[in-house]
Amino acid sequence: MSAVRLTAPRGVADVLPQAAGAWQRVEAVARDVFRRYGFAEIRTPMFEATELFLRSVGEDTDIVAKEMYTFVDRGGRSVTLRPEGTAGVVRAYLEHGMNAGPQPVKLCYVSAPMFRYDRPEAGRYRQFHQMGVEVLGAAAPAADAEVIAAAHALIASAGLPDASVRLNSVGDATCRPAYRERLRDHYRPHLEALCPDCRVRFDRNPLRLLDCKQPQCAPFIASAPTLADALCDACRAHLDEVQALLTAARIPFELDPGIVRGLDYYTRTVFEVVHPTLGALCGGGRYDGLVEELGGPPTPAVGFALGVERLILALGERGVEAPAQAPEVFVACAAEELRADAFRTAMAWREQGVAAEVDLLGRSFRAQMRHADRLGARFVAVVGRSEAERGTVTVRDMGAGTQEEVEAAGAVAYLRQRLASAGA
Ligand code: AMP
Repeated sequence: MSAVRLTAPRGVADVLPQAAGAWQRVEAVARDVFRRYGFAEIRTPMFEATELFLRSVGEDTDIVAKEMYTFVDRGGRSVTLRPEGTAGVVRAYLEHGMNAGPQPVKLCYVSAPMFRYDRPEAGRYRQFHQMGVEVLGAAAPAADAEVIAAAHALIASAGLPDASVRLNSVGDATCRPAYRERLRDHYRPHLEALCPDCRVRFDRNPLRLLDCKQPQCAPFIASAPTLADALCDACRAHLDEVQALLTAARIPFELDPGIVRGLDYYTRTVFEVVHPTLGALCGGGRYDGLVEELGGPPTPAVGFALGVERLILALGERGVEAPAQAPEVFVACAAEELRADAFRTAMAWREQGVAAEVDLLGRSFRAQMRHADRLGARFVAVVGRSEAERGTVTVRDMGAGTQEEVEAAGAVAYLRQRLASAGA
């Protein structure tokens, strides 16, 4: 058998140790924001019955038509690797009777893997990760505004404070059908000039015509009637109140009639946070019909999902760096017979909360020092013969190049104090 070099599947990335710090950082920011905003974590399965996505995301969407990882399992059931998070959360909400308890139910997820058979490019993968929230059982505009505020807070706290929210309303069952017909009337004389995708959208999902990125379709989008002008009174009032609340909370946003979102289940509020080169970082909106569509009682709901890879790319472009993981102290042994001492010391310090590293290769003292430097250790604690006799260790500050002999018993306190004063 020839040795075939195995690689990860196309469009799927490893997060290597040098990149993991950025992930941990945005995950910590997300957990903190979600805690402050009162969202409790839910973890739903990575695959679901295919029917769940057919009924929720919608058969005419790009996701269902072209992008799902669907397969028949050994029991003959059709299952799908989840392409998005909301459907599974709603399924769990109903399955576990959360709709019977106090409302609203506020749920979040952090770095949940999602799968779409998309064309891979910068910021687009076949396995990617989302963090997001869902508020179930709240109809008032305050729920929309809270969800948008949480998305903005997450992106701003992560390091993009000037990210702006693009807001729109896609109406509801009262006003959308009439608008859809007006949109068709607008496009009908130009069908020949549209891209092939838009010709299909014209029949199946005319709202998506507004989301086309092909240059040949741009003029028709620019001259299209806007949904905002066609909203019924209730949808208009809802959008006005969302705007009033965002303004009161000083959350920057702009109205953008081009935001229509790719999924079928949205009603009224839709929004995105858009990056100039990477496209949407985050998208969300209200989905008042979805719970009922999935067999539950009529339940208004609103949420968002943010793409973790895209957020990390955007932060990298902005120069927001996450420090790579490095030991706080490397415990080096200066004599062969002190290896067990050094080992015991490192384990004891770890027990006390210090990130301590110790040689695992039987290196010479000089090689241990070189290795500690390569690892980026802040300090090296030298366990030497004379130190052992005196009950001390010599702590070397690798940055400053200075060193001090300290009592072994007080070394952890000493390190803590030095690390804290250096802001490490
Ligand atoms: P969506 O569910 O399509 O609204 O996606 C929400 C967010 O997930 C987007 O704004 C992106 O940041 C991210 N996202 C969507 N699809 C992909 C993908 N194929 N690869 C990476 N990120 C994605």
